[in-house]
Amino acid sequence: MTDVRGAQLDALVDRLSSGSDPIEFDGLRAAATEDGYALSTPEGDEHDTLSESELRAAAGDDDVAPYVTNWYYWEEVVGRRGRHRRAFLRHAEAANEHSVPERYAALEDGMHTEWGEVVVTATLGDDGERRYEIRHADDRDADPETLDRYDDPLDARELATYDDRGRYRPLKTAPSLVSGWVFEDLDGRDAVETLDVLYPASVANWNLEREGELDVTHWRETAERQTGIYDVVDELPREAVEWVSEACCVDSQCLKRREWQYEDGDDLAADGGAGAFPCREPCSLVVAAARKWTKLEEEGTHTYEFELTPSEKEQIEAIIDAVADGRVDEIREADVYEGANRYRTRYLRAKRFDDEGNLSGTPTHRDAE
Ligand code: SF4
Repeated sequence: MTDVRGAQLDALVDRLSSGSDPIEFDGLRAAATEDGYALSTPEGDEHDTLSESELRAAAGDDDVAPYVTNWYYWEEVVGRRGRHRRAFLRHAEAANEHSVPERYAALEDGMHTEWGEVVVTATLGDDGERRYEIRHADDRDADPETLDRYDDPLDARELATYDDRGRYRPLKTAPSLVSGWVFEDLDGRDAVETLDVLYPASVANWNLEREGELDVTHWRETAERQTGIYDVVDELPREAVEWVSEACCVDSQCLKRREWQYEDGDDLAADGGAGAFPCREPCSLVVAAARKWTKLEEEGTHTYEFELTPSEKEQIEAIIDAVADGRVDEIREADVYEGANRYRTRYLRAKRFDDEGNLSGTPTHRDAE
């Protein structure tokens, strides 16, 4: 018997002898009675009037041991403090849906949970201990030897800071997390801490939502409490808030699922996304962008006249689409059939801009005519 296994049995005996409530956990039932110890599992193992040594022997039986090691892991190792962490780790092995033997069999192969752009894999270590691995979903099948290997959750900070072109990521939940790394052999605490560095507060908000306790702050309330330079965002028209959420909060831009609305009882029509974890209030990036849009929305419209061929109009629309969808870098120089192709765009500029940069020679402001 390993030292860990001996310590687990000591903990079981101590727990039952302490006079606290009987154990009823994931199918394991154990109690100290006047006639000795009782122990049973759903597999049909049923013992009572056991002496301490008989209890230790019964708890070590092949059928019973997984239930005991499982109890020890969840109650003594993970414990009840850190309820969000515990809930996530239980979720990572579908603990509320499957029996202990089913989970132990699945954990041997590894149980996978997608979280934003990463995959968390739970496996079974020695004596029922769980171990966790986190890597980018793009590296799902990669040999760990080919990845940069980490074991300190704080190392995730650097990974989350820049995208694969070295650009700062102001929104940690943008789908631009670099790949090529793996956090191996983590315990439950470090696994959840790593996720929290990659996607701050995602585990807590996910669990609060499951438990019906997510405190959502809608747009109006967020906008009205802004001060200083952001004070103006509460002047943004309602329809513009739709455009803000459509611009920033869809899955292609942010992996959180937007749960905030315009205000309580007034939902936005824009798609909130299908992310695993919720967004409970407009983030600082959205508020900062909304400040700019509030200023821009103060402008009235003008009617302009431009000389364009039908293809040139469509090309301008294609350029806007390509920029909005972040596809500009994918358009090859040779692909002149793409409206947002660089040479096509340069040609349009050469043809349609005047020396001041006005499209079709039309000034932006009337007084410039
Ligand atoms: S406000 Fe929108 S962009 Fe910001 S974190 Fe929430 S869902 Fe993402």
